[in-house]
Amino acid sequence: MARQKHIYLDEVDMPKQWYNLAPDLPTPLNPPLGPDGKPVTPEMLAPVFPMNLIEQEVSQERWIDIPEEIREHLFRWRPSPLVRAYELEAALGTPAKIYYKNEGVSPAGSHKPNTAIPQAWYNKQFGIKKLTTETGAGQWGSALSFACSVIGGIECKVFMVRVSFEQKPFRKMLMNTWGGTCVASPSMETQAGRDILAQYPDTPGSLGIAISEAVEAAVSDPTGKTRYTLGSVLNHVMLHQSIIGLEAKKQLAKVGIDKPDVVIGCCGGGSNFAGISFPFMYDKIHGADIQIIGAEPFSCPTLTKAPFIYDNGDVAQMTPLLAMHSLGHNFVPAPIHAGGLRYHGMAPLVSAALRDGLMEAQAIHQSECFEAGLLFSKTEGIIPAPETTHAIAAVIREAKKAKEEGKEKTILFNFSGHGLMDLVGYDKYLNGELHDYEYPESEIALNLEKLQGYPLPK
Ligand SMILES: *Cc1c(COP(=O)(O)O)cnc(C)c1O
Repeated sequence: MARQKHIYLDEVDMPKQWYNLAPDLPTPLNPPLGPDGKPVTPEMLAPVFPMNLIEQEVSQERWIDIPEEIREHLFRWRPSPLVRAYELEAALGTPAKIYYKNEGVSPAGSHKPNTAIPQAWYNKQFGIKKLTTETGAGQWGSALSFACSVIGGIECKVFMVRVSFEQKPFRKMLMNTWGGTCVASPSMETQAGRDILAQYPDTPGSLGIAISEAVEAAVSDPTGKTRYTLGSVLNHVMLHQSIIGLEAKKQLAKVGIDKPDVVIGCCGGGSNFAGISFPFMYDKIHGADIQIIGAEPFSCPTLTKAPFIYDNGDVAQMTPLLAMHSLGHNFVPAPIHAGGLRYHGMAPLVSAALRDGLMEAQAIHQSECFEAGLLFSKTEGIIPAPETTHAIAAVIREAKKAKEEGKEKTILFNFSGHGLMDLVGYDKYLNGELHDYEYPESEIALNLEKLQGYPLPK
Protein backbone atom coordinates (compact mmCIF):
# COMPACT_ATOMS: atom_id res chain seq x y z
CA MET A 1 0.00 0.00 0.00
CA ALA A 2 1.15 3.52 -0.77
CA ARG A 3 2.61 5.47 2.09
CA GLN A 4 -0.03 7.57 3.81
CA LYS A 5 1.05 9.99 6.52
CA HIS A 6 -2.30 11.54 7.44
CA ILE A 7 -5.65 9.82 7.74
CA TYR A 8 -8.46 12.34 7.69
CA LEU A 9 -12.15 11.92 8.40
CA ASP A 10 -14.81 13.99 6.69
CA GLU A 11 -16.93 16.20 8.93
CA VAL A 12 -20.00 14.08 8.21
CA ASP A 13 -18.14 11.08 9.64
CA MET A 14 -17.38 12.75 12.95
CA PRO A 15 -19.17 10.74 15.68
CA LYS A 16 -22.75 11.78 16.48
CA GLN A 17 -22.69 10.09 19.89
CA TRP A 18 -20.25 9.93 22.80
CA TYR A 19 -19.32 6.60 24.39
CA ASN A 20 -19.85 6.05 28.13
CA LEU A 21 -17.71 3.27 29.65
CA ALA A 22 -19.67 3.19 32.94
CA PRO A 23 -22.34 0.61 31.97
CA ASP A 24 -19.70 -1.72 30.47
CA LEU A 25 -17.37 -1.89 33.46
CA PRO A 26 -17.08 -5.45 34.82
CA THR A 27 -17.52 -4.12 38.39
CA PRO A 28 -20.06 -1.31 38.95
CA LEU A 29 -18.71 2.17 39.78
CA ASN A 30 -18.62 3.17 43.43
CA PRO A 31 -20.86 6.24 43.83
CA PRO A 32 -19.51 9.61 45.04
CA LEU A 33 -20.19 10.04 48.77
CA GLY A 34 -21.17 13.09 50.80
CA PRO A 35 -19.62 14.10 54.15
CA ASP A 36 -22.11 11.75 55.89
CA GLY A 37 -20.72 8.78 53.95
CA LYS A 38 -23.96 8.39 51.97
CA PRO A 39 -24.10 8.58 48.15
CA VAL A 40 -24.60 12.15 46.95
CA THR A 41 -27.84 12.82 45.12
CA PRO A 42 -28.00 14.84 41.89
CA GLU A 43 -29.75 17.59 43.90
CA MET A 44 -26.72 17.89 46.19
CA LEU A 45 -24.50 18.60 43.19
CA ALA A 46 -26.88 21.24 41.80
CA PRO A 47 -25.16 24.29 43.37
CA VAL A 48 -21.90 23.22 41.68
CA PHE A 49 -22.95 21.86 38.24
CA PRO A 50 -25.95 22.39 35.94
CA MET A 51 -28.46 19.52 35.99
CA ASN A 52 -27.96 18.58 32.32
CA LEU A 53 -24.28 17.79 33.02
CA ILE A 54 -25.15 16.05 36.31
CA GLU A 55 -27.42 13.75 34.28
CA GLN A 56 -24.44 12.83 32.10
CA GLU A 57 -22.27 12.40 35.19
CA VAL A 58 -24.55 9.69 36.61
CA SER A 59 -25.72 8.24 33.28
CA GLN A 60 -25.67 4.49 32.67
CA GLU A 61 -26.48 4.93 28.97
CA ARG A 62 -23.76 3.52 26.73
CA TRP A 63 -24.29 6.05 23.93
CA ILE A 64 -25.21 9.71 24.43
CA ASP A 65 -26.14 11.99 21.50
CA ILE A 66 -23.87 14.93 20.71
CA PRO A 67 -26.17 17.92 20.08
CA GLU A 68 -25.81 19.25 16.54
CA GLU A 69 -24.81 22.74 17.79
CA ILE A 70 -21.93 21.21 19.74
CA ARG A 71 -20.82 19.29 16.65
CA GLU A 72 -20.77 22.57 14.74
CA HIS A 73 -18.53 24.15 17.37
CA LEU A 74 -16.24 21.10 17.28
CA PHE A 75 -15.89 21.37 13.49
CA ARG A 76 -13.58 24.33 14.13
CA TRP A 77 -10.81 21.73 14.42
CA ARG A 78 -12.40 18.27 14.37
CA PRO A 79 -12.21 15.58 13.22
CA SER A 80 -8.56 15.70 14.25
CA PRO A 81 -6.02 13.93 12.01
CA LEU A 82 -4.65 10.49 12.73
CA VAL A 83 -0.97 10.54 11.81
CA ARG A 84 1.46 7.72 11.08
CA ALA A 85 4.77 8.50 12.82
CA TYR A 86 6.95 7.16 9.96
CA GLU A 87 9.89 9.38 10.86
CA LEU A 88 9.84 8.38 14.54
CA GLU A 89 9.56 4.71 13.53
CA ALA A 90 12.59 5.08 11.27
CA ALA A 91 14.64 6.75 14.00
CA LEU A 92 13.82 3.91 16.37
CA GLY A 93 14.37 1.23 13.71
CA THR A 94 11.24 -0.47 14.99
CA PRO A 95 8.99 -2.82 13.03
CA ALA A 96 6.05 -1.33 14.96
CA LYS A 97 3.59 0.96 13.21
CA ILE A 98 3.08 4.03 15.35
CA TYR A 99 -0.05 6.15 14.92
CA TYR A 100 -0.98 9.25 16.87
CA LYS A 101 -4.18 11.19 17.16
CA ASN A 102 -3.12 14.83 16.95
CA GLU A 103 -5.20 16.72 19.51
CA GLY A 104 -2.68 19.57 19.38
CA VAL A 105 -4.57 21.01 16.38
CA SER A 106 -7.33 22.52 18.54
CA PRO A 107 -7.36 26.31 19.02
CA ALA A 108 -6.10 25.97 22.60
CA GLY A 109 -3.50 23.38 21.58
CA SER A 110 -4.76 20.28 23.42
CA HIS A 111 -7.64 17.82 23.75
CA LYS A 112 -9.29 19.97 26.46
CA PRO A 113 -11.62 21.97 24.15
CA ASN A 114 -13.38 18.62 23.40
CA THR A 115 -15.04 18.96 26.80
CA ALA A 116 -14.78 22.74 27.27
CA ILE A 117 -17.19 23.28 24.36
CA PRO A 118 -19.90 20.90 25.64
CA GLN A 119 -19.50 22.08 29.24
CA ALA A 120 -19.88 25.75 28.30
CA TRP A 121 -22.76 24.89 25.96
CA TYR A 122 -24.74 22.85 28.52
CA ASN A 123 -24.18 25.53 31.18
CA LYS A 124 -25.48 28.20 28.81
CA GLN A 125 -28.52 26.05 27.99
CA PHE A 126 -29.18 25.93 31.73
CA GLY A 127 -29.08 29.74 32.04
CA ILE A 128 -25.65 30.02 33.67
CA LYS A 129 -23.78 33.33 33.18
CA LYS A 130 -20.35 32.63 34.65
CA LEU A 131 -18.04 29.64 34.95
CA THR A 132 -15.20 29.21 37.41
CA THR A 133 -12.44 26.68 37.17
CA GLU A 134 -8.90 25.77 38.13
CA THR A 135 -6.03 25.11 35.79
CA GLY A 136 -2.65 23.44 36.20
CA ALA A 137 -0.41 24.15 33.26
CA GLY A 138 -3.01 26.56 31.88
CA GLN A 139 -4.34 24.25 29.17
CA TRP A 140 -7.76 23.84 30.71
CA GLY A 141 -8.10 27.53 31.60
CA SER A 142 -7.35 28.51 28.02
CA ALA A 143 -9.64 25.80 26.62
CA LEU A 144 -12.53 27.04 28.76
CA SER A 145 -11.81 30.70 27.94
CA PHE A 146 -11.86 29.76 24.25
CA ALA A 147 -15.13 27.82 24.64
CA CYS A 148 -16.87 30.63 26.56
CA SER A 149 -15.72 33.12 23.97
CA VAL A 150 -16.99 31.23 20.90
CA ILE A 151 -20.25 30.17 22.58
CA GLY A 152 -20.80 33.68 23.94
CA GLY A 153 -22.74 35.07 26.89
CA ILE A 154 -20.70 33.30 29.57
CA GLU A 155 -17.87 34.79 31.66
CA CYS A 156 -14.86 32.64 32.55
CA LYS A 157 -12.80 32.91 35.76
CA VAL A 158 -9.68 30.76 36.15
CA PHE A 159 -7.60 29.96 39.26
CA MET A 160 -4.17 28.90 37.98
CA VAL A 161 -1.70 26.89 40.10
CA ARG A 162 0.94 29.43 41.14
CA VAL A 163 4.05 27.54 39.96
CA SER A 164 2.60 27.23 36.45
CA PHE A 165 1.31 30.82 36.52
CA GLU A 166 4.94 31.85 36.98
CA GLN A 167 6.47 29.28 34.60
CA LYS A 168 3.95 29.86 31.80
CA PRO A 169 2.92 33.51 31.54
CA PHE A 170 1.76 33.08 27.95
CA ARG A 171 -1.10 30.84 29.03
CA LYS A 172 -2.61 33.68 31.05
CA MET A 173 -2.28 35.98 28.05
CA LEU A 174 -4.04 33.39 25.94
CA MET A 175 -6.92 33.26 28.44
CA ASN A 176 -7.10 37.07 28.49
CA THR A 177 -7.12 37.17 24.69
CA TRP A 178 -10.22 34.98 24.68
CA GLY A 179 -11.78 37.20 27.33
CA GLY A 180 -11.18 34.99 30.39
CA THR A 181 -9.79 36.22 33.73
CA CYS A 182 -6.90 34.39 35.40
CA VAL A 183 -5.43 34.69 38.92
CA ALA A 184 -2.60 32.77 40.60
CA SER A 185 -3.76 30.20 43.15
CA PRO A 186 -3.73 30.22 46.12
CA SER A 187 -5.20 33.73 45.90
CA MET A 188 -6.55 36.17 48.43
CA GLU A 189 -9.96 36.08 46.69
CA THR A 190 -11.32 33.05 48.52
CA GLN A 191 -11.37 31.78 52.09
CA ALA A 192 -9.68 28.55 50.96
CA GLY A 193 -6.87 30.55 49.32
CA ARG A 194 -6.39 32.89 52.28
CA ASP A 195 -6.23 29.93 54.72
CA ILE A 196 -3.52 28.16 52.71
CA LEU A 197 -1.48 31.37 52.26
CA ALA A 198 -1.62 32.06 56.01
CA GLN A 199 -0.16 28.61 56.66
CA TYR A 200 2.19 28.23 53.67
CA PRO A 201 2.98 31.67 52.20
CA ASP A 202 5.52 30.18 49.73
CA THR A 203 3.42 27.26 48.46
CA PRO A 204 3.81 26.50 44.73
CA GLY A 205 0.07 25.74 44.78
CA SER A 206 -1.61 22.58 43.58
CA LEU A 207 -4.63 21.57 41.55
CA GLY A 208 -6.28 20.45 44.80
CA ILE A 209 -5.98 23.97 46.24
CA ALA A 210 -7.10 25.67 43.01
CA ILE A 211 -10.18 23.42 42.83
CA SER A 212 -11.17 24.48 46.36
CA GLU A 213 -10.95 28.12 45.32
CA ALA A 214 -12.91 27.65 42.09
CA VAL A 215 -15.69 25.66 43.80
CA GLU A 216 -15.93 28.27 46.56
CA ALA A 217 -16.09 31.11 44.02
CA ALA A 218 -18.94 29.33 42.20
CA VAL A 219 -21.13 28.34 45.14
CA SER A 220 -20.71 31.66 46.95
CA ASP A 221 -22.08 33.76 44.07
CA PRO A 222 -25.33 35.21 45.51
CA THR A 223 -27.02 35.40 42.08
CA GLY A 224 -26.92 31.61 41.73
CA LYS A 225 -25.88 32.00 38.08
CA THR A 226 -22.29 30.77 38.51
CA ARG A 227 -21.21 27.16 38.22
CA TYR A 228 -17.94 25.30 38.49
CA THR A 229 -16.30 23.28 35.72
CA LEU A 230 -13.63 20.61 35.90
CA GLY A 231 -11.39 19.82 32.94
CA SER A 232 -10.77 16.19 33.84
CA VAL A 233 -11.50 13.45 36.44
CA LEU A 234 -15.34 13.47 36.25
CA ASN A 235 -17.39 10.94 34.28
CA HIS A 236 -18.92 13.50 31.93
CA VAL A 237 -15.45 14.76 30.98
CA MET A 238 -14.35 11.21 30.06
CA LEU A 239 -17.57 10.94 28.04
CA HIS A 240 -16.87 14.09 26.00
CA GLN A 241 -13.30 12.98 25.30
CA SER A 242 -14.44 9.61 23.91
CA ILE A 243 -14.77 11.34 20.54
CA ILE A 244 -10.97 10.96 20.21
CA GLY A 245 -10.95 7.16 20.31
CA LEU A 246 -14.17 6.87 18.31
CA GLU A 247 -12.63 8.91 15.49
CA ALA A 248 -9.36 6.97 15.73
CA LYS A 249 -11.22 3.70 15.30
CA LYS A 250 -12.81 4.92 12.05
CA GLN A 251 -9.49 6.30 10.84
CA LEU A 252 -7.61 3.05 11.53
CA ALA A 253 -10.33 1.16 9.67
CA LYS A 254 -9.69 3.41 6.65
CA VAL A 255 -6.15 2.03 6.42
CA GLY A 256 -7.30 -1.52 7.01
CA ILE A 257 -6.39 -1.85 10.70
CA ASP A 258 -9.23 -3.49 12.59
CA LYS A 259 -7.61 -3.00 15.99
CA PRO A 260 -4.40 -1.56 17.46
CA ASP A 261 -2.24 -3.91 19.56
CA VAL A 262 -1.26 -1.20 22.04
CA VAL A 263 -3.08 2.01 23.04
CA ILE A 264 -1.22 4.62 25.09
CA GLY A 265 -2.11 7.93 26.73
CA CYS A 266 -0.59 10.09 29.46
CA CYS A 267 -2.54 10.39 32.70
CA GLY A 268 -3.11 13.52 34.78
CA GLY A 269 -6.75 13.38 35.78
CA GLY A 270 -7.27 10.72 33.13
CA SER A 271 -9.33 12.48 30.44
CA ASN A 272 -7.15 12.32 27.33
CA PHE A 273 -6.21 8.74 28.21
CA ALA A 274 -9.90 7.86 28.63
CA GLY A 275 -10.67 9.65 25.38
CA ILE A 276 -8.33 7.58 23.27
CA SER A 277 -8.69 4.29 25.18
CA PHE A 278 -12.29 3.81 26.37
CA PRO A 279 -13.72 2.99 22.93
CA PHE A 280 -10.99 0.33 22.67
CA MET A 281 -11.71 -0.89 26.21
CA TYR A 282 -15.19 -1.63 24.95
CA ASP A 283 -13.60 -3.99 22.39
CA LYS A 284 -11.27 -5.41 25.04
CA ILE A 285 -14.22 -6.16 27.33
CA HIS A 286 -15.74 -8.00 24.36
CA GLY A 287 -12.66 -10.15 23.79
CA ALA A 288 -10.22 -8.11 21.68
CA ASP A 289 -6.54 -8.51 22.58
CA ILE A 290 -5.44 -4.91 23.18
CA GLN A 291 -2.81 -3.72 25.65
CA ILE A 292 -3.81 -0.36 27.14
CA ILE A 293 -1.17 1.68 28.97
CA GLY A 294 -1.49 4.87 31.02
CA ALA A 295 1.77 6.81 31.46
CA GLU A 296 2.25 9.07 34.48
CA PRO A 297 5.08 11.06 36.12
CA PHE A 298 7.36 9.18 38.50
CA SER A 299 6.99 12.05 40.98
CA CYS A 300 3.16 11.91 41.00
CA PRO A 301 2.54 8.13 40.81
CA THR A 302 -1.24 8.01 41.22
CA LEU A 303 -1.87 4.85 39.18
CA THR A 304 1.32 2.97 39.98
CA LYS A 305 1.75 3.68 43.71
CA ALA A 306 -1.42 5.15 45.20
CA PRO A 307 -4.15 3.00 46.77
CA PHE A 308 -7.72 2.76 45.43
CA ILE A 309 -9.64 4.64 48.10
CA TYR A 310 -12.33 7.22 48.74
CA ASP A 311 -10.81 10.70 48.83
CA ASN A 312 -11.75 14.32 48.25
CA GLY A 313 -10.96 15.92 44.93
CA ASP A 314 -9.60 19.06 46.61
CA VAL A 315 -7.62 20.31 49.59
CA ALA A 316 -10.43 22.12 51.41
CA GLN A 317 -12.58 18.95 51.17
CA MET A 318 -15.39 20.78 49.38
CA THR A 319 -15.90 18.06 46.77
CA PRO A 320 -17.68 14.76 47.42
CA LEU A 321 -15.57 11.69 48.15
CA LEU A 322 -14.64 9.94 44.92
CA ALA A 323 -13.57 6.30 44.63
CA MET A 324 -10.20 6.64 42.95
CA HIS A 325 -6.50 6.01 43.08
CA SER A 326 -5.28 8.88 45.24
CA LEU A 327 -2.06 10.10 46.81
CA GLY A 328 -4.13 11.97 49.42
CA HIS A 329 -5.82 15.32 48.82
CA ASN A 330 -3.07 17.20 50.70
CA PHE A 331 -0.37 15.91 48.34
CA VAL A 332 1.56 18.80 46.75
CA PRO A 333 3.59 17.27 43.90
CA ALA A 334 7.09 18.37 42.90
CA PRO A 335 7.10 21.26 40.40
CA ILE A 336 7.70 19.14 37.31
CA HIS A 337 7.04 20.82 33.97
CA ALA A 338 4.13 18.58 33.10
CA GLY A 339 1.80 20.78 35.15
CA GLY A 340 -1.25 18.97 33.79
CA LEU A 341 -0.08 15.70 35.35
CA ARG A 342 0.30 17.05 38.88
CA TYR A 343 -2.97 15.88 40.39
CA HIS A 344 -3.30 13.75 43.52
CA GLY A 345 -6.22 11.68 42.23
CA MET A 346 -7.28 9.83 39.09
CA ALA A 347 -10.64 9.73 37.33
CA PRO A 348 -12.96 7.21 39.02
CA LEU A 349 -13.59 5.58 35.62
CA VAL A 350 -9.87 5.20 34.89
CA SER A 351 -9.25 4.00 38.47
CA ALA A 352 -12.00 1.40 38.02
CA ALA A 353 -10.53 0.31 34.67
CA LEU A 354 -7.16 -0.28 36.36
CA ARG A 355 -8.78 -2.21 39.19
CA ASP A 356 -10.69 -4.34 36.68
CA GLY A 357 -7.50 -5.19 34.78
CA LEU A 358 -8.54 -3.38 31.60
CA MET A 359 -5.32 -1.35 31.58
CA GLU A 360 -1.87 -1.11 33.08
CA ALA A 361 0.26 1.87 34.14
CA GLN A 362 3.86 3.05 33.88
CA ALA A 363 5.58 5.81 35.89
CA ILE A 364 8.30 7.70 34.00
CA HIS A 365 10.87 10.32 35.09
CA GLN A 366 10.67 13.71 33.40
CA SER A 367 14.19 13.46 31.93
CA GLU A 368 13.23 10.34 29.94
CA CYS A 369 10.07 12.18 28.87
CA PHE A 370 11.86 15.31 27.65
CA GLU A 371 14.35 13.12 25.79
CA ALA A 372 11.39 11.40 24.11
CA GLY A 373 9.83 14.81 23.39
CA LEU A 374 13.03 16.00 21.72
CA LEU A 375 13.28 12.88 19.56
CA PHE A 376 9.65 13.38 18.50
CA SER A 377 10.29 17.07 17.74
CA LYS A 378 13.32 16.24 15.63
CA THR A 379 11.64 13.44 13.69
CA GLU A 380 7.91 14.18 13.42
CA GLY A 381 8.59 17.90 13.74
CA ILE A 382 5.85 18.79 16.22
CA ILE A 383 6.98 19.84 19.70
CA PRO A 384 4.86 17.96 22.26
CA ALA A 385 3.53 19.34 25.54
CA PRO A 386 5.52 18.06 28.55
CA GLU A 387 2.44 16.02 29.54
CA THR A 388 2.31 14.41 26.10
CA THR A 389 5.99 13.43 26.30
CA HIS A 390 5.01 10.90 28.96
CA ALA A 391 2.88 9.08 26.40
CA ILE A 392 5.68 9.34 23.83
CA ALA A 393 8.24 7.92 26.28
CA ALA A 394 5.93 4.95 26.88
CA VAL A 395 5.46 4.54 23.11
CA ILE A 396 9.23 4.49 22.61
CA ARG A 397 9.56 1.82 25.30
CA GLU A 398 6.94 -0.32 23.53
CA ALA A 399 8.42 0.30 20.07
CA LYS A 400 11.84 -0.83 21.34
CA LYS A 401 10.26 -3.91 22.85
CA ALA A 402 8.57 -4.66 19.52
CA LYS A 403 12.01 -4.40 17.89
CA GLU A 404 13.55 -6.85 20.38
CA GLU A 405 10.65 -9.25 19.86
CA GLY A 406 10.64 -8.67 16.09
CA LYS A 407 6.91 -7.98 16.18
CA GLU A 408 5.08 -5.70 13.77
CA LYS A 409 2.70 -4.26 16.35
CA THR A 410 0.34 -1.35 15.79
CA ILE A 411 0.79 1.24 18.53
CA LEU A 412 -1.78 4.01 18.82
CA PHE A 413 -1.23 6.95 21.14
CA ASN A 414 -2.89 10.21 21.96
CA PHE A 415 -0.84 13.27 21.13
CA SER A 416 -2.68 15.27 23.79
CA GLY A 417 -1.18 18.66 22.96
CA HIS A 418 1.64 20.71 21.49
CA GLY A 419 4.33 22.32 23.63
CA LEU A 420 4.69 25.72 22.03
CA MET A 421 3.67 27.36 25.31
CA ASP A 422 5.99 25.11 27.33
CA LEU A 423 9.37 25.92 25.87
CA VAL A 424 10.82 26.90 29.25
CA GLY A 425 10.83 23.20 30.19
CA TYR A 426 12.67 22.29 26.99
CA ASP A 427 15.09 25.14 27.54
CA LYS A 428 15.91 23.88 31.03
CA TYR A 429 16.33 20.34 29.74
CA LEU A 430 18.71 21.50 27.00
CA ASN A 431 20.73 23.48 29.55
CA GLY A 432 20.99 20.51 31.88
CA GLU A 433 18.95 22.27 34.56
CA LEU A 434 16.11 19.80 34.74
CA HIS A 435 16.22 17.15 37.43
CA ASP A 436 14.14 14.15 38.34
CA TYR A 437 12.16 14.03 41.56
CA GLU A 438 12.01 10.93 43.68
CA TYR A 439 8.73 9.33 44.58
CA PRO A 440 8.01 11.00 47.94
CA GLU A 441 7.00 7.79 49.71
CA SER A 442 7.03 9.07 53.30
CA GLU A 443 5.10 12.23 52.44
CA ILE A 444 2.44 10.22 50.66
CA ALA A 445 2.18 7.78 53.58
CA LEU A 446 1.69 10.77 55.89
CA ASN A 447 -1.05 12.19 53.67
CA LEU A 448 -2.81 8.86 53.45
CA GLU A 449 -2.72 8.45 57.24
CA LYS A 450 -4.95 11.51 57.46
CA LEU A 451 -7.61 9.62 55.49
CA GLN A 452 -8.11 7.00 58.18
CA GLY A 453 -11.79 6.74 58.95
CA TYR A 454 -12.80 7.49 55.34
CA PRO A 455 -15.10 4.84 53.84
CA LEU A 456 -13.47 2.28 51.52
CA PRO A 457 -14.67 1.51 47.98
CA LYS A 458 -15.79 -1.97 47.03
C1 LIG B 1 -4.30 18.66 30.81
C2 LIG B 1 -3.44 17.91 29.92
C3 LIG B 1 -3.12 16.57 30.20
C4 LIG B 1 -3.54 15.86 31.43
O1 LIG B 1 -4.90 15.82 31.71
P1 LIG B 1 -5.77 14.51 31.47
O2 LIG B 1 -7.09 14.84 32.03
O3 LIG B 1 -5.11 13.39 32.19
O4 LIG B 1 -5.80 14.30 30.02
C5 LIG B 1 -2.33 15.89 29.27
N1 LIG B 1 -1.86 16.50 28.17
C6 LIG B 1 -2.14 17.79 27.90
C7 LIG B 1 -1.57 18.41 26.67
C8 LIG B 1 -2.93 18.53 28.76
O5 LIG B 1 -3.22 19.79 28.47
